[in-house]
Amino acid sequence: MNNQLYSNLIFELSRPERIGSSLPKNEFPHHDIPSSVSRSHAAELPECDELTVVRHYTNHSGNNFGVDNGFYPLGSCTMKYNPKINDEMAAKPEFLNIHPLQPEETTQGSLTVTTMLRNILSNLTGMDDFTLKPCAGAHGELTGLMIIRSYHESRQDTKRTKVIVPDSAHGTNPASAAVCGLEVVEVKSMADGTVDLEDLATKLDDTVAAMMMTNPNTLGLFEHDIVKIVEMVHKCGGLMYYDGANLNPLLGVCRPGDMGFDVVHVNLHKTFSTPHGGGGPGSGPVGVRGNLAQYFPHVNPYHGNFLVELRALTYILTLGRENIKEVGPLATLNAAYIKEQLKDVYELPITGLSKHEFVFNGLADKSTGVTTMDVAKRLLDFGFHAPTIYFPLLFHEAMMIEPTENESVETIDKFIAVMRQIAQEAIEQPELVKSAPHNTPIKRVDDVLAARQPVLIHPENPAETV
Ligand SMILES: *Cc1c(COP(=O)(O)O)cnc(C)c1O
Repeated sequence: MNNQLYSNLIFELSRPERIGSSLPKNEFPHHDIPSSVSRSHAAELPECDELTVVRHYTNHSGNNFGVDNGFYPLGSCTMKYNPKINDEMAAKPEFLNIHPLQPEETTQGSLTVTTMLRNILSNLTGMDDFTLKPCAGAHGELTGLMIIRSYHESRQDTKRTKVIVPDSAHGTNPASAAVCGLEVVEVKSMADGTVDLEDLATKLDDTVAAMMMTNPNTLGLFEHDIVKIVEMVHKCGGLMYYDGANLNPLLGVCRPGDMGFDVVHVNLHKTFSTPHGGGGPGSGPVGVRGNLAQYFPHVNPYHGNFLVELRALTYILTLGRENIKEVGPLATLNAAYIKEQLKDVYELPITGLSKHEFVFNGLADKSTGVTTMDVAKRLLDFGFHAPTIYFPLLFHEAMMIEPTENESVETIDKFIAVMRQIAQEAIEQPELVKSAPHNTPIKRVDDVLAARQPVLIHPENPAETV
């Protein structure tokens, strides 16, 4: 479909009086709306016939890329397939058409769903109780840190204001700590990519509220000293927070609770297959050990994103207790296979055994001038979503690849072949890679300008004048 045929803005398709809807006759009594709250002139909405609207949005939706379109190896984000049975359950009117303020005797089925999910998450993570209210991983982090802060406050231990975060951590970890009013202290990684215990020891004292970690960490490495780390932090009176975004490779095999973590969040939209990207809807339930549940804050008056929770429960029950243990090994196998097949043409800075994801540091041949950004853009020409790039910040040309367990060997082989072809092109025709993408509706955008000077309203958008 030639995208040039279609306008970018529905407003550009608007023609006066071309109206595609008919409202029912107003049979309500007339009320005068006070002039203080009524419009001075009519809203300038686009006027389009139904077919124009359908084509406009259908063609735009075709420019979107999702897991249902193609391979999406976006490291750290676990872009796993959302089985359609999840959506079938979420579309059932019994679940779809309820209201959070409905009397509880009429919502027993839905409450059973939330209770089952809380119990299963507790079993999978080794926690004693869960709240389903947080609506994303970052929301869960904030919730968890509020729990930790309340715990210290309840003991009048108010000098604990620091949160220790490894230098490989996801950006939301320090951000959540800062939003919670806590001070972020960074701990270094060793050359093998895991937490430096000597550096950690120098940061531990009676001002530490918690340490936040994800395990396996952002480089896909299992923190082999985790039991020792937990012991050190507990000994100084701090609590351990588990960022569960990387729970996927451990599912049903080992549990953060058994490692000694006190508070965890899980990302239902990552590990438990519910759709994500584009800003939502997510779900980041928080689990706690012992009597920390008394500090669950009121971050959301209702039950969280219920239909996301229902999808996650459907995914878990579809797999069952035994099959769920296959998820981690398969995700790890897929990642290891890609790593081994590409490590001669892409630089592998950390060679240790990794789990469900790993990081390359750009092309092995540094003489071509082709960057990680160029490789990511060139991948789009072949219908692959790019990996996560320039994160973690430990390497200048980071490329973080997470294939998930869902992909067939054929898809992965195709990806490997394309990555090898791009590495070859970088040597033989570097300009071809540097000027990519060539086959997408939009070429390279100036992302620095877009970030520094965002233009959020189309200059010709009549709605702007409303
Ligand atoms: C995705 C992710 C988060 C944040 O989760 P959101 O649901 O995107 O807010 C936190 N930590 C890690 C390691 C992640 O990958």
